[in-house]
Amino acid sequence: MSHHLVSADETRPTHTIEDYLMTMYVQERDQGEIVAARLAELMNVAPATVAMTFKRMERDNWISGKGRGGVHLTETGHAAASSVIRRHMLTEWLLVRILKVPMTQTHEEAHNIEHAISPALEERMREILNDPKVCPHGNPFPGFEQIVSGWIPLSDLPLNQTVTIRRLHEVIEDNHELLNYLITHNVLPGTQVQVVESLPFNQTLSLLVNEKVVTLGFSAARMIFAEKSN
Ligand SMILES: [Zn+2]
Ligand SMILES: [Zn+2]
Repeated sequence: MSHHLVSADETRPTHTIEDYLMTMYVQERDQGEIVAARLAELMNVAPATVAMTFKRMERDNWISGKGRGGVHLTETGHAAASSVIRRHMLTEWLLVRILKVPMTQTHEEAHNIEHAISPALEERMREILNDPKVCPHGNPFPGFEQIVSGWIPLSDLPLNQTVTIRRLHEVIEDNHELLNYLITHNVLPGTQVQVVESLPFNQTLSLLVNEKVVTLGFSAARMIFAEKSN
């Protein structure tokens, strides 16, 4: 998404703000607060750019800098974030299921389309796509966070237990190299795996996926969630 954000794109302000809102929603959901430095990192922009955008967003009542714990989404900001995330996720499903776009491209392609979708089209997409509650990567639609709450990070699993991958966190969706690696090795929602080795001194673990061993760093493993297989 960074190509929209490297410069202040005055012709498409809503687009830029929507991109910020999506990332801020996820940060607030997971950490309980929005940290400007981390946001700059996630969005691949300079901290000064984030500071400037925050000023605009506060002026327009998307965020509030008042109160404890830094910046938060306002009620309006939360609703707007939820809306663009829903459009993003429905677009991902449209790309995967109907247009058969490879998983390596769905997240990025969705970022270009999501801003243009009207409420009526969103409703139609929801119908056609059978009202999904998670995106193709397993991330929850806003309001459906409880669906993913029981899934366990690979980093917390006991060895040699068969589990089914359910979710690659939003942070992974934005990390092309990691996402491509996971797709190439079929570490995807629906795949059964086992953690067969964990090396804390090396910060890596080994997964058995379709009889092949795949190595992951702990930081990636913390962002991949699985469910016990029966
Ligand atoms: Zn995505
Ligand atoms: Zn997704």
